[in-house]
Amino acid sequence: MNRIESTVSCLDGYDPDALRVDLARAAIRACLAPVSGVERVATRAALGRVLAQDIVPAINVPAHDNSAMAGYAVRAADLKAGGDTALKEIGTALAGRAFHGALGAGECVRIMTGAVMPAGADAVVIQEVVRSENGRLVVPAGQQAGQNVRYAGEDLKAGAPVLRAGHPVRPADLGLLASLGMAEVDVRRRVRVAFFSTGDELASIGAPLSEGQVYDSNRYTLYGMLARLGVEILDMGVVRDDPAALEAAFAGAAANADVVVTSGGVSVGEADFVRRLMNQLGEVLFWKIAMRPGRPMAFGRIGNAFLFGLPGNPVAVMITFYQFVRDALLHMSGRSDDYALPLLRVAAAEPLRKVPGRTEFQRAVLARGASGEYSVRVTGGQGSGVLRSMSEANCLIVLEHGRGSVAAGEMVSVQLMEGLA
Ligand code: AMP
Ligand code: MG
Repeated sequence: MNRIESTVSCLDGYDPDALRVDLARAAIRACLAPVSGVERVATRAALGRVLAQDIVPAINVPAHDNSAMAGYAVRAADLKAGGDTALKEIGTALAGRAFHGALGAGECVRIMTGAVMPAGADAVVIQEVVRSENGRLVVPAGQQAGQNVRYAGEDLKAGAPVLRAGHPVRPADLGLLASLGMAEVDVRRRVRVAFFSTGDELASIGAPLSEGQVYDSNRYTLYGMLARLGVEILDMGVVRDDPAALEAAFAGAAANADVVVTSGGVSVGEADFVRRLMNQLGEVLFWKIAMRPGRPMAFGRIGNAFLFGLPGNPVAVMITFYQFVRDALLHMSGRSDDYALPLLRVAAAEPLRKVPGRTEFQRAVLARGASGEYSVRVTGGQGSGVLRSMSEANCLIVLEHGRGSVAAGEMVSVQLMEGLA
């Protein structure tokens, strides 16, 4: 038994001819490991990348106690609990320009938002509540020690890890890295993905369509999904259903990429020919997944690359990509957070037909009704060749493996398209 087969066949309930969606995902995950390369990049270039280092602040943020409001820095102990207190104003503290003195008893300093708290001061009274009287500043009762003060290290503490390796860098993280003064950061190298479409019937866009041909749309949906995931992309075009051409394409793809994604050629009519070829080149398992759309799928290894042989039907290619390839690529990218797609629970606006024993993904629109409540309805024809239904959808209804038909008003699980990739 080969390596991949021995890894997946020991999973509980593994059945290559009726593989549950969750088990297929687990089987794939069990075979993969994150890519190991690390690159040092400028902070902005880290957006969307996966951290390869823990971020441990070398400084406190903020670096000093400072004022959260514009007003007057005071000593809380000077203030009378039951009435007004008159204070002597001895200077001004601006953001970026500190007051270099200390407050004595009965003194205050005018202070702006972000200005360093003067020595001796422990509270800020907002300017809206004070008044001036006989050259003195009058502060009303009711002030508390510590009010309107932001303390050093309140945001980030020197020495306390704030982001872990494996974290995907988002806009807030760029700001956080900048607030620490970090100009560069270590990220994992991008996963490299080569992809091509297979089929004698495929025409490339820009060329006229001959009798019996269809335009190769899968390479465009695949491009879009891969680009959204932030991987490095190698588009290898259309490859004919011809052993020599396919062999050259597989070999070239596997030599240049971590992952090879193909569409077409894994359905029953074509599987024998491709199966033989793929297994000459590496170790490839052909699965029938208990799902709709997207039943046939090949997974394996050619050279050092993992292979995902996705079905050719335009909707099937997208659904299998979202459910399996996305998870695999994020795992290989080194992500350590939980990137599983969240499932919302929403009422079905109309009945849905479903047979138990497979997971169904229905293209749907999640929308708010007149009452403000969200519900979900399918986008018409659900054939696995009807790409329009995918384009019109903003979500997928996930009908679980064991579930039967759904009545109107029943709660169903929904994956939003935005965020899928
Ligand atoms: P296959 O899985 O190769 O048997 O293809 C299943 C169906 O998907 C056939 O109707 C193909 O014409 C169609 N198909 C396969 N590849 C593509 C592609 N790249 N773009 C659009 N349709 C495709
Ligand atoms: Mg084909």
